[in-house]
Amino acid sequence: MTIDLHAHSAESDGTESPAELMASAQRAGLDVVALTDHDTTRGWGAATEAAGGLGIGLVRGIEISCSRDGRSVHLLGYLFDPTYAGLLTEIEAARHARLTRMDAMVERMAADGIPITIEKVRAHVAAGATLGRPHLADALVAAGLVPDRAAAFRDYLHDESPYYVSHYAVDPVRGVELVTAAGGVAVVAHPFTRSLGRSLDVDLVEEMAAAGMAGIEANHRDHGPEEVARALAVASAHDLIVTGSSDYHGTGKPNRLGENSTTPSALAAILERATGVDHLPA
Ligand code: AMP
Ligand code: FE
Ligand code: FE
Ligand code: ZN
Repeated sequence: MTIDLHAHSAESDGTESPAELMASAQRAGLDVVALTDHDTTRGWGAATEAAGGLGIGLVRGIEISCSRDGRSVHLLGYLFDPTYAGLLTEIEAARHARLTRMDAMVERMAADGIPITIEKVRAHVAAGATLGRPHLADALVAAGLVPDRAAAFRDYLHDESPYYVSHYAVDPVRGVELVTAAGGVAVVAHPFTRSLGRSLDVDLVEEMAAAGMAGIEANHRDHGPEEVARALAVASAHDLIVTGSSDYHGTGKPNRLGENSTTPSALAAILERATGVDHLPA
């Protein structure tokens, strides 16, 4: 069994439609894949239909933007009721804040002589998708300024860049409470990654665990051996489910489906806790 519980479609910053993502997951030999777009469940319908046709297991999920003291925290939510108002309000607030935040980043870059406009960014965003820095990266690539998204982040878009602007996002403890109240299972994504600026304090992860968080993503490309060990230590101290996943973004990142995976017993523990919506068996 190969189980990958973190993947993005073009409903956020992945490059494949939800249906294409399901086909890619099957080609990659996955038995179960989770669709976890940033701040949206818009892909759930198309992914469900495609997964059913392909006979691949689908866990419907999301990656919720959270923030504490200006630091970005990514929270995976699985199998929650997508109509739960408290959660919907927060993800819509983040999606809305991302619009003005993008305007501000583009304005800063244009003021510095970088030939970029909001229209050029929009050209890389699927209708209704969650807008993010990767789309701005795509516009910089199209303008010939950088060869790929990774270079765009390195040269222009990283958190310490003068062009970086943050956006409103729910507090991570509140995020955990909302996912749980919606019948879902909350798992902190890549908590100790350094690629999005400073890594999280163990204290914050513990606070999230105390608020009802079920799991921690330990095995992830952005974690070295030291970060994996730290995640496993927190997991055993707080009885958290341990997951591993690719964080696939299509051609937007080097991450390949199945490069990290989750054990069947960890998936079973997630399914057992979820009461929001059913998972779709293979
Ligand atoms: P945002 O949510 O708009 O602040 O953008 C953060 C997103 O950028 C994350 O979800 C990552 O998928 C993506 N990202 C961060 N660093 C890189 C990178 N070096 N290459 C490609 N994508 C990246
Ligand atoms: Fe992303
Ligand atoms: Fe993330
Ligand atoms: Zn992700």
